[in-house]
Amino acid sequence: MSAPVNAAPVENRCAPLDPDLLSSCVHCGLCLEVCPTYQLTGDENNSPRGRLRLWREEADGRLPRDEWTDFYTSECVGCLACESACPANVPYGKIFEHVRHEHVATGRAKPSLLLRGMAKLVARPALMNWAFLPARVLRTAGLLPHRFVFAGQPSATQSTAEYAAWLMSRRQPTGPRVALLTGCLMESLFREINFATVRVLIENNVQVIVPRDQGCCGAFQEHTGLDGVVALQEQSRRVFGPLDIDAVVTNSSGCGHALGKTLKGTVPVRDVLSFLGDIGPTRRQREPNGTRVYVDLPCHLVHGQKVPEIPRSVLDATGYRWEYAPNARDCCGSGGVYNIEKPENAQAILARKAAFLNTAEGSPTILATANHVCLMQWHSAGKTGLVKRPYQVAHVIQLLDSVASPIDNRI
Ligand code: SF4
Ligand code: SF4
Repeated sequence: MSAPVNAAPVENRCAPLDPDLLSSCVHCGLCLEVCPTYQLTGDENNSPRGRLRLWREEADGRLPRDEWTDFYTSECVGCLACESACPANVPYGKIFEHVRHEHVATGRAKPSLLLRGMAKLVARPALMNWAFLPARVLRTAGLLPHRFVFAGQPSATQSTAEYAAWLMSRRQPTGPRVALLTGCLMESLFREINFATVRVLIENNVQVIVPRDQGCCGAFQEHTGLDGVVALQEQSRRVFGPLDIDAVVTNSSGCGHALGKTLKGTVPVRDVLSFLGDIGPTRRQREPNGTRVYVDLPCHLVHGQKVPEIPRSVLDATGYRWEYAPNARDCCGSGGVYNIEKPENAQAILARKAAFLNTAEGSPTILATANHVCLMQWHSAGKTGLVKRPYQVAHVIQLLDSVASPIDNRI
């Protein structure tokens, strides 16, 4: 039996890794073709099977700790496509999260100062919301031309919790009761998507509460390998666990995946689009025009939350002519913070998916998905020259919204 990968975890955020997990890989190789880093490099060590082998060899003492294992560990996007492809049910994500945390804790991986600062900020949502106030104002004015910052008009001062309480008192829906996770970056920079989520849910007779004492789901710390996950998970259990609700609803697939693990066995965590698919959303009536919507599927929705697709009833309800983007289930390269830590890899992965936009039909052409980090990544394709013609990005929930969105304003 092999020794644990992490003999001395610095943050006791999970039980020591079961050494048998590393032995569960039967080396069949069925995961290789779905792995974006293997597709890019053709390097066995840059594949799920290769990484698992390196970690196991090291854990068994047959391989010394070396910089190549550190390198190949850092190359993983964390997309979890290998989990879906694996016939042996190897829990790659759980193993990878453990190894990544161990590498950061022992200095083998060194997240940048920017990411370390952000990790502290996301744990303090009130401070983060104030810190991002100028960014919200600049974004609304169209004056924040960062490659990851797509167009939108977030409220500068009104929070999603305040907005939801106001709209609930006016509309008084009587249907299922949900709590909305507002998220850290979503609320501080992209809160117009939260507002649209509230509107669409209430329009569909869903009661929405937005707990004001909620915090970050912990996904940022998981993506970076930094400490702090345990406290955030405890906060989420304390805030959402006792609520009298049918589900916690999320509108960012990475956050939903992280929160789902935290609240497992207590309250259901549902992606908002999947939730709406169950109740059948109100269909938008739109005049026929040249708009074409291409839908991409976030990895953490498909492989993390195991939601195989966005319900067709939901996509039809947008009123737009839509189709799935080519290779919609493949990773776009965003990977939480991968596009910050490994920008060249992330762009190379995106390039394979985004090329179709150069010739896609539609005026305007909209790329829609269900994760703000994926939206940021897709937006960057235009800024870095991968896509050389105009296109827009949008969360699917915005396409269901009754209020004129920035998309409508741009059409
Ligand atoms: S998580 Fe994604 S990038 Fe990492 S090994 Fe699995 S398929 Fe490859
Ligand atoms: S598909 Fe699963 S069992 Fe097969 S090589 Fe990949 S991780 Fe190992």
